[in-house]
Parts: sequence; structure tokens; C-alpha cells
Amino acid sequence: MVISAAAGATAMHTYHLVRPFFARTVTLAARSERDAAVPPAVKSYASFATDFETLRRKDLLFPVTGVETRRLTDTFAETRGGNRPHEALDVIAPRGSNVVAVDDGHIAKLFASNRGGLTIYQFDPTQTFCYYYAHLDRYAPGLSEGQSVRRGDKIGEVGSTGNARSDAPHLHFTIFRLGPERRWWEGTPINPFTLWGSR
Ligand SMILES: [Zn+2]
Repeated sequence: MVISAAAGATAMHTYHLVRPFFARTVTLAARSERDAAVPPAVKSYASFATDFETLRRKDLLFPVTGVETRRLTDTFAETRGGNRPHEALDVIAPRGSNVVAVDDGHIAKLFASNRGGLTIYQFDPTQTFCYYYAHLDRYAPGLSEGQSVRRGDKIGEVGSTGNARSDAPHLHFTIFRLGPERRWWEGTPINPFTLWGSR
């Protein structure tokens, strides 16, 4: 196809007027093509970034009182007991330190497991995220499944139940994005360290 100089001049002339719409159309088309080509694993990184921003905006309360967050270390990517991913934040604190709800929400499950010991699964108000607190020495008196909690409510005390060393009490804490079924035992872990570790 041959484009005449006149046609080119016309195109140049109208370019400025049509450009905003034209540019937007191209952007949308390019985005949908890109999405179609991106494998699901890469897409999940995008949703991970969005989840992280959502959590940052929530300004979650730190889950253990009396701890200096600048002394935290990031152990999310470490492994435990062989190849099992840690995928959590360990908060070293004296036994009996108060564990508080990082957000409003409700207690979805109180569960005793071999590894986690006494644990709490708390859902956020939108039931998008679950906050997991493990190795507790005890629950706050009267705490029960289904109970609503407010950010800052005491829900338990730091301990070493489960597979934590008895001479190293700590809170094992993580956040995970719940799946569509909103099951307390299913989700995608999100590293809590960067919410507090860099402050
Ligand atoms: Zn841990």
C-alpha cells in the first residue's frame, strides 16, 4: 500500500486531535493481549502486590505489645524442618507478653496443632485475609470461635506451644489471602515483615 504525501499530511494534521482516543485504545488492547499471554503464576505476583498495598493501607497494629519492631528479622523465605517453607514472621518476646488483634474482624478458628501449638485464625472484616497467631501460651479468657474482635483486643499470650523451643518463646505470625471458599486452613501466605520491619 502506497500512502501519498497528501494522505500523510492529512494524517499528521488529524493526529493531534485523535491521539487521546487512539492512544487509549492501543493501551487497552495491549493490556488485554498481555494478560492473555501471562501465565497464572506471574499473575499471582500482581495480585500479591495489590494485597500488600491493601494491607499497608490497613495500618495493622503490631501483634505483640512491648516489642521494638526495628529489631525484627525477615525469616519468611527460610525453611524449617527440612524443606518446609517458614512463610511467617517470628516475634521474640517474653513468655506471657500480650498478643493483640492486628485488625478488626472475627475469630474464625481456635486450633491446637503439633507444630503451631495453640493457634488463632482471625479473619479480617472483608474476609479477604486471615491473620494467624501460633505458639501461644494461652488464649485470652473467654475467647471463642465466631467472636468479633477489635484491633488491639488482647487475644492471647506469647508462649512456646507446638514445636517452638521452650527456652525461646515467640509469636509465629503470618497473614494469608483466603481462597474463594474462605476456609481458615487454605490461603496464600503474605510476608508480614515488610509491614513493620522497615519502620
Ligand atoms: Zn515461625
